[in-house]
Amino acid sequence: MKAAVFRGPGELEVGEIETPKIGPDEVLVEVGANTVCGTDVRILSGQKSRGIGRNVVLGHELAGHVAEVGRNVRGYELGAPVALAPALACLHCYYCRRGMENVCLNKKIVGNALDGGLAEYVRVPAQAVAAGNLFVTRGDLPSEYLALAEPLSCCINGQENYRVHLDDVVLIMGAGPIGLFHLQLAVLSGARTVIVSDPTEARRTMAEDFGARVTVDPESEDLLEVVAEHTDGLGVDVAVICIGLPALVNDAFGMTRKGGRVNLFAGFAGEAWAEIQANLIHYNELVVTGASDSRRSDYETALGLIESGRVEVERIVTHRFALEDAVEAIETSAAGEGIKVAVIP
Ligand SMILES: [Zn+2]
Ligand SMILES: [Zn+2]
Repeated sequence: MKAAVFRGPGELEVGEIETPKIGPDEVLVEVGANTVCGTDVRILSGQKSRGIGRNVVLGHELAGHVAEVGRNVRGYELGAPVALAPALACLHCYYCRRGMENVCLNKKIVGNALDGGLAEYVRVPAQAVAAGNLFVTRGDLPSEYLALAEPLSCCINGQENYRVHLDDVVLIMGAGPIGLFHLQLAVLSGARTVIVSDPTEARRTMAEDFGARVTVDPESEDLLEVVAEHTDGLGVDVAVICIGLPALVNDAFGMTRKGGRVNLFAGFAGEAWAEIQANLIHYNELVVTGASDSRRSDYETALGLIESGRVEVERIVTHRFALEDAVEAIETSAAGEGIKVAVIP
């Protein structure tokens, strides 16, 4: 089969490899689409190396159809549309026992440690089948839309950490695919006003289409002033940082009201240090949270929101590439062109 294999930083080799053989407790999925993530960009550039196997097939946002079912496996019909929650938690470590499988100590991710979706086929390991990571989808939406359940599931986990209450004013910094998902979730959760800041006009326009009441170009407008204007000078209830720029952390603290919540959703490159005005947390009683990965339940929720159309994904996928052009697909994603890039094997 054709696959895009990570040979090391800067080296993604698209070529023929052996089609995976499955064991009696495994499922083989014919990949319908794999969407490209900022993490793939960071892996390929060498910025992210923890948990990444050499010679691994990249791609962790994938959906497709069942191609083969191991003889001990029940519940999967040949040809059924499926989507895979790629984070395999051990289900027995300290965190898994406490419902925090997203930060499992022994987590393995399909497309990082195990062969992923930038291929014609992907083997779903017995551990994933047993844990229910492979979801049969209700309808048969195009795979590139179902694949977005992965990034959306991470946003759902993040939102559980920062919570949006009815009538909240929410600030979202960055309107890439992740920011646009947080925006849609905030609207669904009853936010009164969502303010989205992004320097790219096309992204701001899309944010408006998805329900942002206010959009701001932080390079030409004073975001602090806009926030003050829409919050009677108090600051927002919630600020979500969706761009991995350390300087935004302090900015977000300064624009959040007393008792408000700030979520550092984006990953920051390497050992990112941010200088913060500590008293903003102290006197303003800010609640600062992070977000890492997602649980199977978040993934299931994400699939439900996509399938019912309550989270719109059609306009999120702006580029489609063939598997042969996987390198170009990742470069396009790295360049920030469009919103989300899909690879269709
Ligand atoms: Zn991802
Ligand atoms: Zn665990």
